[in-house]
Amino acid sequence: HLNQTSSFHAYHSELGCFFPGSSNTRRRLVIIRLSEYPSPLMMEAGEAKSKKAGGSRLCCICNKRRPVLKRPKTLQQICRECFYEVFEEEIHQVIVQNRLFNSGERVAIGASGGKDSTVLAYVLSELNRRHNYGLDLFLLSIDEGITGYRDDSLETVKRNEVQYGLPLQIVSYKDLYGWTMDEIVKIIGLKNNCTFCGVFRRQALDRGATLLKVDKLVTGHNADDIAETVLLNILRGDIARLSRCTSITTGEDGPIPRCKPFKYTYEKEIKLDYFSTECIYSPNAYRGFAREFIKDLERLRPRAILDIIKSGEDFRISTTTKMPEQGTCERCGYISSQKWCKACVLLEGLNRGLPKMGIGRPRGSVNGDNKHTKARSTAKSIESKQCGSLDF
Ligand code: SF4
Repeated sequence: HLNQTSSFHAYHSELGCFFPGSSNTRRRLVIIRLSEYPSPLMMEAGEAKSKKAGGSRLCCICNKRRPVLKRPKTLQQICRECFYEVFEEEIHQVIVQNRLFNSGERVAIGASGGKDSTVLAYVLSELNRRHNYGLDLFLLSIDEGITGYRDDSLETVKRNEVQYGLPLQIVSYKDLYGWTMDEIVKIIGLKNNCTFCGVFRRQALDRGATLLKVDKLVTGHNADDIAETVLLNILRGDIARLSRCTSITTGEDGPIPRCKPFKYTYEKEIKLDYFSTECIYSPNAYRGFAREFIKDLERLRPRAILDIIKSGEDFRISTTTKMPEQGTCERCGYISSQKWCKACVLLEGLNRGLPKMGIGRPRGSVNGDNKHTKARSTAKSIESKQCGSLDF
């Protein structure tokens, strides 16, 4: 009943029927956002019309309905109904083929209130029910303490809690570290804030997952994020991260393995922008450049995203390359390739009034031992997205 050309505001005004609605209602609203995509995903109105008029082009799957979108990875022109089917079926196949879960497992969904994790929560709860995965699902959110950003997005997660019937755990930086990001930014300014935030978030997610006693943590990282991370790791020469950033499951040697069911899913296909505020502290120009570069490549050749992931998967590391050795932090017990984990070093700096202590390359730092400088820089991947649309 909603017009395909609804503006964002018109769409937004329909959220009242989105949240308490049936799964069909939810699906319909996802589609409305899809209809706002620019080409090549959405077919140009004129293109679709002329093909219809000529009677020569129907959805290439059902061969009955008018196609409304062109899938970036296959270039198939398909109708809305078939898009729902193939989208969910593809995620199911990724889960099954990569054996992401075992029946009876407790699984936390990293939920930021952004589009990726919101769609992930919906799809995973649907597939769990439809295919009897036998999973106990939870939502896990991190409250970094960013006024006007995270407090708003957490409201979305709280609605998801009710909507999908999934228990929600919120873990805050203030509780874990004694600092909010607002307080940290007051001290360090806007230069290295994302270093603190990313390091703290990674550990906070693990701590939240431990609180929930889950077996796995799933995140909404999509194909665009992974391609972007491959590129960034090449640009930084970060071989350790490059070697693992394309894995669909990481951290199997750590406290909680993490999975990315959207590894092969294009961001354009999970666009659900009902929460679109950017972090007020987001200065990540370097990652932003990589993101724009990937988008430009995609415009020229939509398969570029999957090809970059494939290239990342096929990298082989020379046996002579020194890799970091995994241990545990002497202070908090978290995984670390150093005497102290990065979060403890950063926290020590904050608490001692030396906030730059853990930033950059160490010189006779608390960790003392400089022979692992390289290992430090390649310590466990943070993998946080550029936070304009942050989804852990
Ligand atoms: Fe944290 Fe992301 Fe904001 Fe940086 S941009 S402060 S990492 S939420």
